[in-house]
Amino acid sequence: MAYKYNGKLKGELDPWQQPDAFNDEAPTANPPRHPSHPTRPNVPHIPNIHWDARHGQWIVRAREGNKSTFSRMFPADQYEAAIQCRITVLGPIPEPRPTERPNVPHVPGVMWNKNQRAWVVRIKIRGQRIYLGSFAPNDYDNAVKAVQGARAKHFPNGHVTQLKPCGTHAAYQRHVNRGEPICGPCRRAEHEYVETHRKRNAA
Ligand SMILES: [Zn+2]
Repeated sequence: MAYKYNGKLKGELDPWQQPDAFNDEAPTANPPRHPSHPTRPNVPHIPNIHWDARHGQWIVRAREGNKSTFSRMFPADQYEAAIQCRITVLGPIPEPRPTERPNVPHVPGVMWNKNQRAWVVRIKIRGQRIYLGSFAPNDYDNAVKAVQGARAKHFPNGHVTQLKPCGTHAAYQRHVNRGEPICGPCRRAEHEYVETHRKRNAA
């Protein structure tokens, strides 16, 4: 049986358009690439629109489990048409998942992880960091409870981690981690810290 791709036979397609199904001869180590669009055009990523680098085209695709339920190709310069197709077939484009820290008070031990989009809870016991778990963005309350519970358990006498005051490398790091503006004393302390390490490494 002759394979068809986009309703065309192999002989009707340029080499860079031919899908794997046609390569019934000896497989080539480096399949031919589209002559003018080898790399993904620099446009924002939209779910369900994939760049097919091998054939230099966009694929609008929907899946249910492992099964492809919809698939349509668009030439590289027709991203707008692909977006319209994506909206018509699959509905509105979902809002990108926010990576910004939710606006809640800072609690020592509860840190926002941008990549995981989660609250990561850690506690330091005798200098050792102990991971207490990750919590969903809307689960901040439980993240705080987790760190408070662990503190109550490990420091029943109300031991509180002593935070280094401003004007130290640690405080500078704390500003950076919290996305705060860096105060004068910390800026100077960090400058000194970097200078000291530079000299030590140079020696
Ligand atoms: Zn400071």
